Amino acid sequence: MKKISAISFAAIFIIALALLYRKNLYTENSYTESREAIGTVVSITLYDSPDNIMDEAMLQSICHKLFDEANRLENIFSSKISSSELSNLNNQIGSNVNISVSDELYDILSLSTKYCQLTNGAFDITLGNLINLWNIGTDNPTIPKDSQLAPLIELNRWQSLILNQSTNSISITTGDFNFDLGAIAKGYIGDKLKALAVKNGISSGILSLGGNIITIGSKNNDDHWTVGLTDPLYPDSLIGTLSIKDKSVVTSGNYERYFMEDGVRYHHILNPNTGYPAENGIISSTIIGDSSADCDALSTGCYVLGITNALELIESLDGYEAIFIDSLGNIHSTSGVDAYKFTTN
Ligand code: FAD
Ligand code: MG
Repeated sequence: MKKISAISFAAIFIIALALLYRKNLYTENSYTESREAIGTVVSITLYDSPDNIMDEAMLQSICHKLFDEANRLENIFSSKISSSELSNLNNQIGSNVNISVSDELYDILSLSTKYCQLTNGAFDITLGNLINLWNIGTDNPTIPKDSQLAPLIELNRWQSLILNQSTNSISITTGDFNFDLGAIAKGYIGDKLKALAVKNGISSGILSLGGNIITIGSKNNDDHWTVGLTDPLYPDSLIGTLSIKDKSVVTSGNYERYFMEDGVRYHHILNPNTGYPAENGIISSTIIGDSSADCDALSTGCYVLGITNALELIESLDGYEAIFIDSLGNIHSTSGVDAYKFTTN
């Protein structure tokens, strides 16, 4: 049984919220189902096409294909599954050999290195040992000793990953580390599920993978989707809403996976420079864009970078907007966010 931490969705579409309490829901033109998967709650809502050709059984069948695909990809990317392809790769780090990997693992590692570079190492997929040491999100989190942290704080280890595209293989030149794809895999899986839904004839739908919202087309083939942003200071409330069409909205926050000790909150987004949970001013980092994988990597990277550097990074990228919330509850957003009618409550 997988561990699910106290989940407060970072972004919630109203139907998905209802589904936390209800497994299946069929209305005359949409089908919704939610399940525990990939270490979180996954909710999928699929609408019938405008020409009304899909009944409940067809929508349900497509929905189940999506859940199967999520499970298949989890078995590749999860560092928590000892038989996963990623765990197998982790076991070979240090052997200095060429390792053949699946298309998907190659693809996500390749995309990840792009974001390691773009965020100057704030987003870092080589933090597996550090993440396991803290154990945040489990029943046994611990504050590591400095002597335990010191050997794990080695910056830019991702640079030792060499990708050989012609052979779909990778090699790792040096290192004693483990990959952890927790900050990008949910987004990557979300993009794959969206593509599969579209391939099966879906033109309208919304997927919620924990804090990752992926919208397909427009709501009911007509309206924009309303996506709520959780207030990080009051996680049972929304701080505002966005109006979205065919985009992804991904949030990283300090209020989902954390533990308290002596009045201090230790959350799960780690600063590779210090080995400690990132405390650079941001407590909630939301990115809006076409690709959920890109948004996922950027939301984590920006959280670590802090407001000034994060705003500068997102402003420099075409097609991405951001909303950051600081520890006082102040909102800092990029210049193009008005396109999504961001409205505070
Ligand atoms: P994000 O900000 O997107 O990512 C934070 C996570 O990324 C951290 O939890 C850590 O894993 C990692 N990380 C921390 N700091 C950094 C950094 N600076 N750079 C890069 N990465 C960083 N959870 C379970 O409890 N049990 C499971 O069995 C389990 N299986 C999973 C399998 C898969 C395939 C996936 C995708 C997720 C799984 N999860 C599991 C959930 C996983 O832990 C979540 O991805 C995690 O909670 C991060 O999601 P987030 O959106 O909250 O935060
Ligand atoms: Mg992320």
